Amino acid sequence: CCSIRYIMTHDLTDTIIALSTPPGAGAIGVIRLSGPKAIEVVDKVFHGKDLSQVEGYTVHFGKIKDEEGKVLDEVLVTIFRRPRSYTKENVVEISCHGSNYIIEQIIHLFLRKGVRSANRGEFTLRAFLNGQMDLSQAEAVADLIASDSASSHDIAMKQMRGGFSDEIKELRQELIDFAALIELELDFGEEDVEFADRERLEKLVEKIQVVLKKLIDSFHLGNVIKNGVATVIAGRPNAGKSTLLNALLNEERAIVSDIAGTTRDTIEESLNIDGINFRFVDTAGIRKAQDSIESIGVDKAMSEIQKSTVALHVVDISDTTPEMVWSDIDTFKIIGTRFVIILNKMDLNPYTKPEEYYKEGLISAKNIITTSALNKMNIEALKEHLYHTVIDHPELMDQTIVSNTRHYDALHKSYESLAAVLHGLQSGITGDFVAMDIRQALHFLGEITGEIHTDDLLESIFTRFCIGK
Ligand code: GDP
Repeated sequence: CCSIRYIMTHDLTDTIIALSTPPGAGAIGVIRLSGPKAIEVVDKVFHGKDLSQVEGYTVHFGKIKDEEGKVLDEVLVTIFRRPRSYTKENVVEISCHGSNYIIEQIIHLFLRKGVRSANRGEFTLRAFLNGQMDLSQAEAVADLIASDSASSHDIAMKQMRGGFSDEIKELRQELIDFAALIELELDFGEEDVEFADRERLEKLVEKIQVVLKKLIDSFHLGNVIKNGVATVIAGRPNAGKSTLLNALLNEERAIVSDIAGTTRDTIEESLNIDGINFRFVDTAGIRKAQDSIESIGVDKAMSEIQKSTVALHVVDISDTTPEMVWSDIDTFKIIGTRFVIILNKMDLNPYTKPEEYYKEGLISAKNIITTSALNKMNIEALKEHLYHTVIDHPELMDQTIVSNTRHYDALHKSYESLAAVLHGLQSGITGDFVAMDIRQALHFLGEITGEIHTDDLLESIFTRFCIGK
């Protein structure tokens, strides 16, 4: 039987080169070459051991000379023989002195010898094309390099080691098997046979949906950890929003004033709390605006609240009744966003009881915190509260977190197309339509890991049933 494999039209026959350490002067610079001629071409300019004879995973000292015999540098070369390298190709890493001049001279020497400059991410692209890793793992490499907090590093590391793509691959394979059976039914045309057990298919689809849903839900947290938590500070004019922001940031950034509605535009500042970056947006008061400039501010506040992950609703307890707070929370639909009610200016009314502000189904004890922004009272407790608002998701803690937008999109589309499959099965549509919906779902699932569905589907049919042999 035949086996059809997805072949990407990408040229793997040339040897590529790039500086792998950051540009600029450093103690050493590492130049990496990958491709069929990597070892051969380095051997031509390297004066030391005969590199064509050395084993992989060995390091050699020598000189690199140009065409005129001029010594460009004394270097160490590390040899990797395919397939035991990052790209699964022959790879040579040249450690030279970290001067821009030397690095440039060496790279140019290789370009003259027919080596090509690598494109962005091309070593990892080759690793993917050569089957070293799947697409989501390759993307995790980029995330790992870019990660600048402990938590984003964790996510990328987990994903690079396999993460959710293994699970998706497995479920996808089960679905491919079903699709093959349904396609087979179609070949029998009028005979009205059913090879694929519809009930089992329905169960499988639901099972995949549960897995996808979890991953989709994790995106919010994943995104938050990667890009920071959009946190909006809202509340009526003079509630103490700017003062609170200053207290949180511990500096005098926002303009504090006694005149209501002076913070007309939004100010953005960020604060790192235990490895999570909170991006604070201070908005103008959200009371019904009197003049037009202020009303732009109010619209902006509304849209900021809707965009944000967490909203801090600041209340001046000295002049705000619980009823007013409930009505604000209601009007601005803060509910969808995670919110914290900050009962501020406690110094003016130290006997206020937070319980007075509770409201069934709207505000509970865990949403309320009391502060005096002016005296920096309870600010540390507020920070801790904020951290937990974001991080406490028992349902998400032990699982892989999706942090990549492309995966999120593909997961979402897969979920939708599976819903269509389910709908089709339940309303008893014909096999060809079910097959079409499944193909669609397989396509999106395949997009995540980089597998392409039609070839898989064909391969599955041909290798298992050998139709038309
Ligand atoms: P915003 O309009 O909500 O940004 O409010 P501001 O931060 O500009 O504060 C308005 C006024 O309330 C200023 O005079 C602040 O000094 C004052 N203020 C803010 N927080 C407190 C607080 O905790 N206690 C007291 N007594 N005054 C405060």
